[in-house]
Amino acid sequence: MTSPSTAAFLARRHGHWIDGAAVPEGSEGEIVVLDPATEAPIARIAAGGQAEVDQAVAAARRALNGPWGDMPHDERTRILLAFAALAEQHAGTITELAVLDNGMPWAIAESCAPFCAMFLRYYAGWISKISGQTLPSAALGKKPSQLHAYTQREPIGVVGAITPWNYPFGMEMLKIAPVLATGCTLVLKPAEDAPLAALLLAELASEAGVPPGVFNVVNGIGESAGAAVAAHEGIDKVAFTGSTEVGRHIVHAAAGNLKKVSLELGGKSPVLVYPDANLETAIPGVALAAFMLQGQNCVCGSRVFAHVSIAEQLARGVAEFAASLNIGPGTDPKNMIGPLISARQRDRVEGFFSSAAEEGARCMGGGARVGERGYFVAPTVYTDCTPEMRIVREEIFGPVMAIQTFDRETPEELAARANDTNYGLSASIWTQDLRTAHTMSRLIDAGQVGVNCHAAMDPSMPFGGFKQSGWGREFGADALELYLRTKAVTMAWD
Ligand code: NAP
Ligand code: MG
Repeated sequence: MTSPSTAAFLARRHGHWIDGAAVPEGSEGEIVVLDPATEAPIARIAAGGQAEVDQAVAAARRALNGPWGDMPHDERTRILLAFAALAEQHAGTITELAVLDNGMPWAIAESCAPFCAMFLRYYAGWISKISGQTLPSAALGKKPSQLHAYTQREPIGVVGAITPWNYPFGMEMLKIAPVLATGCTLVLKPAEDAPLAALLLAELASEAGVPPGVFNVVNGIGESAGAAVAAHEGIDKVAFTGSTEVGRHIVHAAAGNLKKVSLELGGKSPVLVYPDANLETAIPGVALAAFMLQGQNCVCGSRVFAHVSIAEQLARGVAEFAASLNIGPGTDPKNMIGPLISARQRDRVEGFFSSAAEEGARCMGGGARVGERGYFVAPTVYTDCTPEMRIVREEIFGPVMAIQTFDRETPEELAARANDTNYGLSASIWTQDLRTAHTMSRLIDAGQVGVNCHAAMDPSMPFGGFKQSGWGREFGADALELYLRTKAVTMAWD
């Protein structure tokens, strides 16, 4: 049962959040938000495009030039901490919205509010530590004693953020918290398939004291509202999370005013399982690396390399573990596998089931849709996979694991196989041997490596991709760099 507060939120007429107020009208029709577990409409959102982005950018510019950009750090820190507290107070609604909007299992949805609060607190702590340097300049033929030379870190300006649907509260907070901490202002375009999180977060931010215009949301489709953000002359920086394909569009669109760009893109992450791995923990760990959020996550460990001596045991173990996970709506907390986001995504994943069968992969479990209603597919394990298969090469964004074996390869040879992809986001290595762990961690081309764990996330640990998985790093102090610019000031006495 949906709680009264969540039901009231869903029933409201939604659209955008611009200049500190809800804007329930839109210039580009309507987005009908579906619950992917039931296919039932749960909310309606007015869609916007260029006109709304223009208004939001104007509001963001005014706010940047107003008190926000120059606010004393203690005041801004208090606002972020208040925002964190509000996220915790509204944990119930956040959990329910995450389940209904995105379809995620309850246990993962429950992580959304703490995730938001933790990120806000982490970046609140940075606000008072953002500083430049005093430097011993001897420019102009003078001595350092005759000059005062220093750098200052300034907010980069108006930030446009474009986010995906797969973990909406989290993906959005990864932009919101460092943007607010650095004193920038924001125009956020959430994914049309999961637009509710951003609206609730904007309301909570406002209640916490974030001034009007600092944090704006424009809902709409990617090709219109998203493209308007990416190309906007009034936006100084665009921070994008989504597919590599759309990431390329963003880069082209950003070229007009040469706005700065950061990209968190797709992945096809390798998982290396050695014969000395502790299979008791590796089997569930490897299974969850691939099946968490129905595989709809960028770090999904979908490309497994298992030593030939344990490959069959691993495959069976993972298939058994997967079969033990209840599949069904996230509203029932015992369900650990929810639906895919949309019929389109379900059809796409089914296309991979067909290609796997045609290309000769052996299915150890799953490989089909589940139930009549909702976009459910079973977690799926393939063995006998070869490097040219589509399930091995392409990002699926579904619960599909492709297992290949290795035998006597040198570390360099195995790394070359693991690195044989255009992506480079995440990887994991399952072994009890320190030498293997260190050697392979160095050789793997990925921005994130886990040893006996996959995709460990902490606010302090930078996250982002090598190769075509992205530009820049979110999380940690690195994320501040995305939203700051450095000014060098040299002052001579006369
Ligand atoms: P997507 O199709 O690339 O969409 C991402 C966002 O871009 C959405 O808001 C989308 O709007 C918008 N968009 C689409 N076309 C656009 C255009 N021409 N100009 C500007 N914006 C545009 O990705 P998705 O299907 O939502 O999410 C899945 C992808 O995200 C996967 O590839 C996954 O690996 C990646 N991802 C990466 C990370 C990471 O941190 N590296 C995290 C999560 C997901 P619409 O919703 O209207 O299409
Ligand atoms: Mg999309």
